[in-house]
Amino acid sequence: MSGAFDKAAQALRTASCAVALTGAGISVESGIPSFRGDSGLWRKYPPEEYATIDAYIENPARVWAFWRERAHDFADCGPNAAHKALAGLEQRGILKAIVTQNIDHFHQQAGSRTVVEYHGNVHNLRCLDCGADEPLDIENMPANVPRCPVCRGLMKPDVVMFGELIPTSALAETDKWVSQCDVLIVVGTSAQVFPAAALPYRAKENGAFIIECNVEPTGFTRTVTDAFLEGRAAATLPRLAGLV
Ligand code: NAD
Ligand code: ZN
Repeated sequence: MSGAFDKAAQALRTASCAVALTGAGISVESGIPSFRGDSGLWRKYPPEEYATIDAYIENPARVWAFWRERAHDFADCGPNAAHKALAGLEQRGILKAIVTQNIDHFHQQAGSRTVVEYHGNVHNLRCLDCGADEPLDIENMPANVPRCPVCRGLMKPDVVMFGELIPTSALAETDKWVSQCDVLIVVGTSAQVFPAAALPYRAKENGAFIIECNVEPTGFTRTVTDAFLEGRAAATLPRLAGLV
């Protein structure tokens, strides 16, 4: 295990462009459950009822109530030592960007500046009819489904639900970072949600060294990972940052 940390630290010391890809696992220790697994949210809230765009259009009130609850969780919690370690690596000029699948804003709250939100965020509302958007105060979310101030259409949180496309700007920025990076740190992501799960494979094809932080092996571990740092990200990332 210390061999993996040494290899990872060595790769980061010589990297010219290190990038991180983060998933729900990095925020678990902040108190935000991931979606999969025994304690995951999907056990209680099946994704086909709460996280698809069709479910929202069919029953907006039910899905809005679910996202309102998630937003309250985010407002009550904050970044942990793993988010802070990545922010510190960026401040030291080692990490150039984070591509996150998370919608919780904890990277920005930890001080990271270049953050690509691959699956959107809960701090904006967008109209499904005319595309108008407006900021959403997650500490004071309305109880009822919001209507568009321009056309009265249905507004939805600007998160990417199943059945929706990744925003083109996030795709373009991610492409840039994944093709440029020579080290990719993959943190707390299960390798099951596409197209995000394809990113480590693309980085590897471009010659990047892949560091993976997870509590258990994933589909990446035996295929693309060069250094597997097993354990809770709030412990492994600060340890790694301390070695660089
Ligand atoms: P996932 O739920 O599919 O997988 C989470 C991964 O994190 C698993 O591989 C698990 O082993 C690992 N993990 C759990 N605890 C960890 C810890 N303490 N340290 C390191 N790793 C840990 O998550 P996903 O692959 O990111 O996909 C689910 C989708 O839902 C993504 O878009 C995700 O961002 C989103 N989501 C976001 C939030 C959030 O914004 N905080 C929360 C839940 C889900
Ligand atoms: Zn509208």
